[in-house]
Amino acid sequence: MLSLEQAQAAIRERITRAQRTQIITLNDAVGRTLARAPMAVVDNPAFDNSAMDGYAYNAVDLARAQGKLPVQGEASCGSAPGMLTTGTTMRIFTGAPLPRGADTIAIQEVVQVQDGVAVFPAAGKREDFIRRRGEDFRSGEELYPIARRIAPMDIALLAAAGVSEVEVFAKPTVLVVATGDELVPPGVPLQIGQIYESNRAATIAQLRQLGAEVIDGGIVKDNPATLHSVLAGAVNYDFVITSGGASVGDHDVVKQVFAQLGNIEFWRVKIKPGKPLAFGRVGDKTHFFALPGNPVSSLVTFKLFVEPALKAWHHGVWAWLELAATVENDLRRTPGRMEFLRGRLRTENGRLYAQALPGQGSHMLGTLRLTNGLIKIGEESPGFKVGDTVTVVPLTLDVS
Ligand code: AMP
Ligand code: MG
Repeated sequence: MLSLEQAQAAIRERITRAQRTQIITLNDAVGRTLARAPMAVVDNPAFDNSAMDGYAYNAVDLARAQGKLPVQGEASCGSAPGMLTTGTTMRIFTGAPLPRGADTIAIQEVVQVQDGVAVFPAAGKREDFIRRRGEDFRSGEELYPIARRIAPMDIALLAAAGVSEVEVFAKPTVLVVATGDELVPPGVPLQIGQIYESNRAATIAQLRQLGAEVIDGGIVKDNPATLHSVLAGAVNYDFVITSGGASVGDHDVVKQVFAQLGNIEFWRVKIKPGKPLAFGRVGDKTHFFALPGNPVSSLVTFKLFVEPALKAWHHGVWAWLELAATVENDLRRTPGRMEFLRGRLRTENGRLYAQALPGQGSHMLGTLRLTNGLIKIGEESPGFKVGDTVTVVPLTLDVS
């Protein structure tokens, strides 16, 4: 059996990285991954300008005039920089170009203007409230490296830098199939012995969030011939993800069918939940994951294996945020496998606390109502006691 790290490394090594790219507008860019480093078209700031509403002056002039300067002219936004007449101050507004000859700005709140003369309380420091051209970034500068997945925040920087289009990798195509004789989609009344299918639905939702093009392969019976026909076109996709039937039961047909179509690379990992799991290749560009059927195992293995694989496919290096938290309950367990518990994370006075939630069975979805993170337990750990420090992985930053 492989450790988590060994399994993740094995997957990383076997990924055929994305080749096809496309150019898209910024409007469509969130969630997509850069295939070329975008460069700033302009300096930011694009010109020297004022950070505040106030008065622009020359520090030497003000000292000479003992704190009083006649107001002459106005610098407003959207116009070209004017020229400060020696021995005067100019009215200026936030974002307006700094007039030539000025080197300091006083905010309007501290300046008294009487009969066209501005009275300054004290000389400011030269450069006060001035934003200099290029102090943020320079034209031609690489804004992001390739493999960056574009977040909403990145749109601000790209737009400010004058970038209207970005080159990204074409979306990975992912065929998602649920296997199981007992599965029906929600919306249909259940017959005795049937359950509602949830893994494929959640996998599709997660993939879409990660910027994948999903092909819904539906629910397939535990029948090798049927599954084989559904997966026969596997080579047409970048990824194929199945759920269920990956174990060694009589009706666990997924491995058998994948073994006919391609190569299975490994199928047991020393983690809980999620032990029955297979990864492999079909042809020279298709990666497949046979994820376990238990709903929680399916969610956890998606995060542990599919997310890193997608990251590698996009030429990136996957990492997630692990934090130290004080645990709020006791847990005894049998060492031997790395374990991920569903947890509730909270902060109090800037400290992070984690509660291992009741209801950890890998079939139990109700616990997800309170889950906002995972508690990671090392292979050899016998568990923890209240007050111990544990490692946690936040799943969301919204802890309301
Ligand atoms: P399996 O891995 O096929 O042996 O399934 C393990 C458990 O997960 C069984 O209780 C299945 O009924 C359940 N299960 C399998 N696939 C799904 C699915 N797509 N949605 C919900 N539960 C599932
Ligand atoms: Mg099954």
